[in-house]
Amino acid sequence: MRKYELSKIYQGRLKKGDDIIQGITEILKDNAMNSGVIFGIGAVSSAKLGYFNQVDKKYEEEQFDEMMEIVSLNGNISIKNNEPFPHLHAAFSKRDFSAIGGHLLPGTMVYAFEFAIFALDGEHMVREFDADTGLFIWQVGGNP
Ligand code: ZN
Repeated sequence: MRKYELSKIYQGRLKKGDDIIQGITEILKDNAMNSGVIFGIGAVSSAKLGYFNQVDKKYEEEQFDEMMEIVSLNGNISIKNNEPFPHLHAAFSKRDFSAIGGHLLPGTMVYAFEFAIFALDGEHMVREFDADTGLFIWQVGGNP
């Protein structure tokens, strides 16, 4: 576990047609944000989600080509491969108000997206491959 100080809160939006992961990653790089938490709501024209199969230790991917609300999107910001990396999960609702959700992947396209990024000051977390889980997870050292 690590302790952080709140640096700044950024609020903004991505444009219609933007890829959420790509758009957020550019904002992180442009503003040198290496640690933080992120929230967002809005709507998408398509979504690509991952489900991590813990037996196979692989992401199963699924593309949803439909208009959906972003009921809730949240995640964190840390370093992976020496670059700021947003790890995002989201829940979406369909026209019949049923919901789907999962690990957000590139290929999720914005119709409208409003976000808040809480940028944090402190020693940033670094993601490294973890053989036990098959995931790139935070290397905290000492007490996880
Ligand atoms: Zn995830």
